[in-house]
Amino acid sequence: MTMQRRQFLKAGAAGLAMTGLAGCASTSSAPAKARVAVVGGGYGGATAAKYIRMLDPAIHVTLIEPNEAFVSCPLSNMVLGGFRGIGDITTPYTGLAKHGVEVVRDWATAVDMTTKTVALKGGSKVAFDRVILSPGVDFMWEALPSMASAEAQAAVLHAWKAGPQTVSLRKQLEAMPDGGVFVISVPLAPFRCPPGPYERVCQVAAYFKAAKPRSKIILLDENADVISKGPLFKKAWTDLYGGMIDYRPNSKAVDVDWKGRTVKLEFGDQKGDVLNVIPPQRAGDVAKPFITANNRWCEVDWTTFESKAHKGAHVLGDALQVAPLMPKSGSMANGHGRICATAVVALLNGEAPNPSPTLINTCYSMVSDKLAVHVTSVHKYDEKDRTMKTVPGAGGVSAAMNEAEGVYTMNWARNIWADALA
Ligand SMILES: Cc1cc2nc3c(=O)[nH]c(=O)nc-3n(C[C@H](O)[C@H](O)[C@H](O)COP(=O)(O)OP(=O)(O)OC[C@H]3O[C@@H](n4cnc5c(N)ncnc54)[C@H](O)[C@@H]3O)c2cc1C
Repeated sequence: MTMQRRQFLKAGAAGLAMTGLAGCASTSSAPAKARVAVVGGGYGGATAAKYIRMLDPAIHVTLIEPNEAFVSCPLSNMVLGGFRGIGDITTPYTGLAKHGVEVVRDWATAVDMTTKTVALKGGSKVAFDRVILSPGVDFMWEALPSMASAEAQAAVLHAWKAGPQTVSLRKQLEAMPDGGVFVISVPLAPFRCPPGPYERVCQVAAYFKAAKPRSKIILLDENADVISKGPLFKKAWTDLYGGMIDYRPNSKAVDVDWKGRTVKLEFGDQKGDVLNVIPPQRAGDVAKPFITANNRWCEVDWTTFESKAHKGAHVLGDALQVAPLMPKSGSMANGHGRICATAVVALLNGEAPNPSPTLINTCYSMVSDKLAVHVTSVHKYDEKDRTMKTVPGAGGVSAAMNEAEGVYTMNWARNIWADALA
C-alpha cells in the first residue's frame, strides 16, 4: 500500500465519522471508506457505478434511477421497423447488485454540493463524497411552443428516449393506412445520436416496403446535409427504398399544429399522417446547475470528468458539451463511465488520475433488417488544449452496407449491455 493510500484511509475513516457515514449499510463487510452517488442508470451512469465497485469494493456506490429496467436507445429503431420487440432491448438492473451497487429506484430532484446530498422525489436523501451525473438529455420544448402541454407530447412523439414512446410510435405506424405519409423532423446538431434519425428512416422504410408500399417518408432536417454516414445512408435510401424517402435539408421546424398533424417550418408547413418530431436537446434537468456551455451542456475536465462548475461532481454522457468530433452516443457514454470510474477511485484513494485517457467510439446503424453500416473514431486527451482530439488515421466508415456488420451490430449491443449492467 502506498503512503498516500494509507493516509487516505486514515483521513477517510475520520471523515466518515464526522459525516455520520461510518455506520451506513454497505454490501461489503468492512465499513465503506467513501460514498459515491450516481444519478442515472443509462450507458454512462450504470458503467461508472459498476466499474467503481469492481476497482475498489470498499467504496459504497448508490445508483439512483427511476426505471425498473434499462431500455436501450441503440436498436430501438428496429422496434419501429418491427424487427425487434421492446423486451429484446431491455436489461434489468439486478446485475449491478452482484457488484455491490445499491440501486435506489427514485428520481433525483436536486444535487446539493454544500451538504453533499442528492434529494430524492420519495423524500429521502443520499449522502456522497463524490457525485456522478449521467441523466442524458431533456427537451427544449420552448423551441416548439405548441408542444408544451402533456396532451401535445402524447400526440406527437419523439421516441428519443427508448421505452413507452418507442412502443407508441410503432403503434401509430401500424395504424397508418397504406399510402399515408410519415413526417420526421430533425433538429440542428448537436443532439443525441447523430446517425439516429437517418437510421430511423431506413427502419420505417423497411417496414413500409413490406407492409405499406404506397406510403411515403418526408425527412425534414434542420441541418444542411445528413450529419453522419451521409453517403452510406443516401445509398441505402436509393438502393433499398427508391422513391419512398423525400429528404429535405435546411428545413427548420418552428412549431407543431399537433391537432392538425402539421409540422410548421420556417418556410411553409408539412402535413403528415404520423408525425415524429425530435426536439432540440440539452443536458437532463437534474444537471441544470452544472450547465456552463450555451445554456445547454455541462463542461468537464476530460481526465476525470469532474464538472467545471462544481468540484466533487462529475458529469458523463449526452449531458456534456462534447469535444471536437465527439458524438453523443451510448458507446461514448460507456467510455466516459469507465474513465470517470477509474479517476474517481484514484481521487478517493489520494492517487493521481490517468493524465492521458483515450476513448473509442463505434456506432452501427441498421439500414434494413440485416444490413448495417458503421462509423468509428479514436479520441485522445490533448494536454496542451485540455480537450479530447481525434487520432489522425484512426477510425473510419464502412466501405458499403453489408450483412456482416448487421451481425456485429447485435454483438456490439449484447457486449455493451453486459459491460454496463451485468
Ligand atoms: C433512436 C436512437 C438510437 C441510438 N442508437 C445508438 C447506437 O446505435 N449506438 C450508440 O452508441 N448510441 C446510440 N444512441 C445514443 C445513446 O442512446 C445515448 O448517447 C446514450 O444513451 C447516452 O447515455 P447517457 O448515460 O448520457 O444517458 P441515458 O443512457 O439516456 O441514461 C440516462 C438515465 O438517467 C436517468 N435519469 C434522468 N434524470 C434522472 C433523475 N433526475 N434522477 C434519476 N435518474 C435520472 C434516466 O432514467 C436514464 O436511465 C441512440 C439514441 C437514440 C435516441
